[in-house]
Amino acid sequence: MPRGNGARAASSVIAYIGLGSNLADPSAQVTQGILAIARLPETRIIAQSSFYRSAPMGPPDQPDYINAVTAIETAQTAYDLLASLQAVEARHGRARGLHWGPRTLDIDILLYGAERITGLDLTVPHPGLSERAFVLYPLYEIAPDLEIPGLGPLAGLLRRCEWRGIERLSGSAPITP
Ligand code: AMP
Repeated sequence: MPRGNGARAASSVIAYIGLGSNLADPSAQVTQGILAIARLPETRIIAQSSFYRSAPMGPPDQPDYINAVTAIETAQTAYDLLASLQAVEARHGRARGLHWGPRTLDIDILLYGAERITGLDLTVPHPGLSERAFVLYPLYEIAPDLEIPGLGPLAGLLRRCEWRGIERLSGSAPITP
């Protein structure tokens, strides 16, 4: 029987989720995304980074992004979690257009426990994780001792990643769902 929010499952894992938005009030989009993740079955949020403003990676003629990372404990399988997160994206009007083009809400599974997954629809750790400052810095804020499967300590990745084009938004308080 599915468990409600907050329940612990024997087989639960800790996963790290990256969120980003640069359209339609990005901070509100990311906040709503986090609240939607908190409502997923068999899932609870255990840590939440500040919000960060970052320069767009793709075409330059688009607004800055707001990014954040959330740690969850979930009993959903990695593929069920991917489907759940894609449903949240879809509810936020995510339209898949330009590669790296503007987006209402992008949600990625950065890590799923210590697992390494190389599937058609799912790669974990997320392939962009090691070089994206807007992922590494918020992740480090909530899990500084993390080991990234196949890549080593998060702190090592961070040392090789320039703090460039990103800004921690000091007013951003953790969201308590
Ligand atoms: P994007 O446009 O960057 O959001 O990419 C979405 C596509 O990436 C979807 O088709 C997913 O199936 C695929 N994908 C592969 N690995 C991941 C991951 N770790 N998290 C989220 N989406 C992923």
